[in-house]
Amino acid sequence: MEENSRASNGCFPENNDDFLDTIFEYANGETEERLERRPVCDRCRRPITVCWCPFLPTEPLDVKTEVYILQHPFEESRCLRTAPMLYHSVRPGKCHIVKSKKFRPGRFPEIATVLQSPNTILLYPGDDAVDISELPSLEGDAFYTLVLLDGTWQQAKGIYTQNAMVKWPQKVKISHTMTSKYVIRTQPNDTSLSTLETAAIAISILENRPTLVDIMTRPLDALCQFQMAHGAVAHQSKQHRIENGLWEKKLPQKLLRKMEKQQSKADFSDDADKR
Ligand SMILES: [Zn+2]
Repeated sequence: MEENSRASNGCFPENNDDFLDTIFEYANGETEERLERRPVCDRCRRPITVCWCPFLPTEPLDVKTEVYILQHPFEESRCLRTAPMLYHSVRPGKCHIVKSKKFRPGRFPEIATVLQSPNTILLYPGDDAVDISELPSLEGDAFYTLVLLDGTWQQAKGIYTQNAMVKWPQKVKISHTMTSKYVIRTQPNDTSLSTLETAAIAISILENRPTLVDIMTRPLDALCQFQMAHGAVAHQSKQHRIENGLWEKKLPQKLLRKMEKQQSKADFSDDADKR
C-alpha cells in the first residue's frame, strides 16, 4: 500500500478510503475465479494449468533486504494474490508472511523486536512518510528491513490503526509512475500496485538494483497472461471505468446511492472552490 493508492482523480473526494474499498471489494468479487477443485501446484497452490512457478528466478534472489509482510487473514483466501510470489522469489529466510489482524508484542515477540529496530521501515502512506530513495545509507553491511501491510486498502489501514507496534517504524513511501501489471484483480485506482510490485520497487531502490523489478514481477506477468488466455479481460481500475462510463454491469443500489452522495458532495465542494 502506498500513498498514490489514496489519490483521487478529482471526481471523488480525496482520502475516501471506505468508498474506494467498497469498489475494490465489489470488483474483486466479480473477477475472482472458482478454480479450487482442480489439481493444484504444491508450491504456488495454483491449479497446475496456471502455475506461475516456472517464471520464478532460476535461483532464489540473493537480496539483502529482509521483508516482513503483515497480512490480513482474509487476504490469504483470495485466488489472486502476490505475496507468495515474493516469498518464493527470494532466498529462504528473507521473506516472512505473518497473518493476523492483531499484532501485540506478547503474541508476536519476534515481530515486535523487528518493528523496534531503528533499521526497520514500514511502507505506508502519510505526511510523515519519507521517500524511500531519500533514506540514508546504513553503515557497513547493515540493510533496512522492510515491512508491508497486505490486504485491501481498508484491511491494511485497519492493521495500521489498530496496532500500536505497527506504528513504531519510520514510515516510507515510493514514488512511481508504473501502472500495475496486476490487471486481473481490479485495482482501486490506476496507480495502485500489488504487494509484489511495491516490494520489488522498494527493494530495487534500497539495493540500487533496478533490474530486480522486472525479474521479480515475471510470475505476475505470467499469471495475468494465463488469466487473460483463460477468458479474463484486462481490467482498468473500477474507479476509472465507473467515472468514464465504461462500467457495463449493473451496480448494487447501495453502491449507486453512495456514489451519488459522494458525487454531490464533490460537486458541492467544487462549487465552493469556485466561489
Ligand atoms: Zn506452482
